[in-house]
Amino acid sequence: MIGIVPEPGVGIDPEELLAWFDEAERDLPWRRPEVTAWQILVSEFMLQQTPVSRVEPIWLAWVARWPTPSATAAAGPADVLRAWGKLGYPRRAKRLHECAVTIASQHGDEVPTDVETLLTLPGVGAYTARAIACFAYRQRVAVVDTNVRRVVSRVVHGVAEAPASTRDLDEVAALLPEGDAAPRFSAALMELGAIVCTARAPKCGVCPLRACRWRSAGYPAASTPARRVQRYAGTDRQCRGRLLDVLRASTDPVTRAQLDVVWLSDTAQRDRALDSLLVDGLVEQTAAGLFALAGEGG
Ligand code: SF4
Repeated sequence: MIGIVPEPGVGIDPEELLAWFDEAERDLPWRRPEVTAWQILVSEFMLQQTPVSRVEPIWLAWVARWPTPSATAAAGPADVLRAWGKLGYPRRAKRLHECAVTIASQHGDEVPTDVETLLTLPGVGAYTARAIACFAYRQRVAVVDTNVRRVVSRVVHGVAEAPASTRDLDEVAALLPEGDAAPRFSAALMELGAIVCTARAPKCGVCPLRACRWRSAGYPAASTPARRVQRYAGTDRQCRGRLLDVLRASTDPVTRAQLDVVWLSDTAQRDRALDSLLVDGLVEQTAAGLFALAGEGG
């Protein structure tokens, strides 16, 4: 398995990368100076599996309505599930609500600053903890997502894509510049992977990096097959989304028949999807056997 170990003398020139970022940085609302650590945390939850363009309107409405952890905690899980809208993977909304409750009740309504404490929060994994420490608190910590991993694989190792490795964090940390520039370098590296060094069509003609081993080597093909784009139509995810749509749209609990009618093509799949929503705590059953969003089952 190929890791992304930087070889001696091979790195990414911070000046090149940062000069490009000064010009090319997207004006994303969660990057603005007035945005709080909590609001950055909300963006990181939303961006985990959803593209920027879909997150942006939901995030703007969310932080306007619930600007702090305590405001979110007071909202209740059903309100949060409704506001999550069509972002997908709604367990994230539930975890975000739990995270808000924990920060409000145990951390004085302030997002913790250190990675170790951040990792104790509901829904906060290794990537999110580091992203918050870096982007909200300007700490010199490595942040490795698929975009960063891909850029480093190409520039440093000359391979199209390297698989995730336990060494990635140390390896990317070794590329960070010293001092205050490190957080911005991390953001720039991620941005380069998101908008220039993309998985399928890297725009090498506008890339700011003069040295790139993959380009110099003539773009050798990946040794592993390209990941297939996940289909959505017909999946359990789509079925769960349809069932949740019914509950989001109703202020009262609904009957089983009202749910059944939205997925008639595969009744076993529908039953499985509803069970999983109940198990995940996103849906509740009332004493009368009706169905409701979490917190609205009486
Ligand atoms: S030169 Fe091309 S492959 Fe190399 S980092 Fe830039 S965009 Fe990616």
